[in-house]
Amino acid sequence: MVWGIAGIVLCSILIIGLFRVGNTSKEMTYDHYEGRVFYEIFVRAFQDSDGDGIGDLNGVTQKLDYLQELGIRGIWLMPIQKSSSYHGYDVEDYYAIEEDYGTMEDLRRLIDEAHKRDIKIVMDLVINHTSSEHQWFQEALKGEGAYRDYYIWTDDMTKEHEYSPMGTKGWAKSPTKEELYYAIFWKGMPDLNYDNPHVISQIKEIATYYLELGIDGFRLDAAKWLHDEKEKNIVFWNDFREHVEGVNPKAVLIGEVWDQAFNCKEYAGPLHSFFDFDLGEQIIKTLKSGRLSSVATSYISHYEMYKEQSESFVVAPFLTNHDQNRIMSMIDGDTDQMRMAAAMYLTLPGAPYVYYGEEIGMLGTKPDEMIREPFIWSTDLSKNTSWAPITNEIEVVALEKQIENEESLYHFYKKMIGLRNSQKALSRGDISLVKAPKSVFAIARAIEGEEIMVLINGGKEVEKVQIGEARYRVLLSTEDSYKEKSKMQQEVELQQNHILILKKE
Ligand code: CA
Repeated sequence: MVWGIAGIVLCSILIIGLFRVGNTSKEMTYDHYEGRVFYEIFVRAFQDSDGDGIGDLNGVTQKLDYLQELGIRGIWLMPIQKSSSYHGYDVEDYYAIEEDYGTMEDLRRLIDEAHKRDIKIVMDLVINHTSSEHQWFQEALKGEGAYRDYYIWTDDMTKEHEYSPMGTKGWAKSPTKEELYYAIFWKGMPDLNYDNPHVISQIKEIATYYLELGIDGFRLDAAKWLHDEKEKNIVFWNDFREHVEGVNPKAVLIGEVWDQAFNCKEYAGPLHSFFDFDLGEQIIKTLKSGRLSSVATSYISHYEMYKEQSESFVVAPFLTNHDQNRIMSMIDGDTDQMRMAAAMYLTLPGAPYVYYGEEIGMLGTKPDEMIREPFIWSTDLSKNTSWAPITNEIEVVALEKQIENEESLYHFYKKMIGLRNSQKALSRGDISLVKAPKSVFAIARAIEGEEIMVLINGGKEVEKVQIGEARYRVLLSTEDSYKEKSKMQQEVELQQNHILILKKE
């Protein structure tokens, strides 16, 4: 027992109202973004439509019904522009679609078909750098002309050994002259010069082009690296947001600001949203220690900090993405833990992002190609892309197998996302902590008189949580002890790994 008898007896009001992430002026904000569950797609790995084994945009269109069925209401497309690499994070031409993926017309069709299903499409915008094959850089290498100052140069060769603020070798040798150019990620990705107003207007034009095509927003790659100084980044993103909202007031900017929460907060002003990188790490850590309660506590405190910057800010919870070892590998393939991880982040406020394949428990650890393997639709290999070898155990992971099995991870994801979509308190409600033992993730979400409680016991002992005098109905329980629709009040008992979601009557 973690808290004393006296505590249980005295504690009739159990929801601690200390932390409230406000929904006060909600309706003015983001019906078109907040509360929606997004799905991150690596197009090359997802679905092939033309038999070359490589995933493409028409393949994504073919699978929109699958995503809709899962409850997905937004898609983040990893880079789709013409690129020199398999992953696309070095763009060669911002106005052309990667040949392997299809055409601009295919993108237009994907957007239309997604919108018919009320699914938003957000695309990766990679503008910290271009590919070294981009025409701008090729022109700039000549040493003169309009594109020279699109990039950052020095003839001080001693800088070759200097480190960038990211901790990488910041400068690369020019292939044509005795000089260096700035490229903090890799020599094939020269950094654009954001002190040059021409660069800024080019980037704005690119954004306009895709917004006019119907794209609903951008996932901003490397959002904190455009300038080395944070203040200058903030100025840029404010200006960019103003431009974007001028084209489409409902467009959203979701930043990759990969840093600790405290260092991200200034970006909550100019960006509508960014990913909470701390959350996934913390979920993995607490699943191992069995102390789940801290997940909600720190999420709320971060969110409060962001909301202070901007009341309309929406955080994006997720487990792992295309740059990280897959969640299922991080918890050693334990499906009970996987369910708890999903139940936590899919019941927190914000706009959650599912990484493709997560819902079927795909495994993967770096190198990068292995965390971006073909989505496994079927045990019939011809139905999956073949862009890279599959090392996952196909018989276990294949979606078609999981669809047949009501107890599968896929069905659990579908249930969780379905609950979030059908219960406004879960998608848009305020959050507060519920008093519970340390091993229990315990939150309440409330909106317009509706209240939902989420209780998850990650410890090894049976735990009790006081839920007060009100009557609750079970929306979801992973233990048979509480059947759906059973009623309860005052005290609930949670088994190990038990996920229990209740709605106040
Ligand atoms: Ca193809």
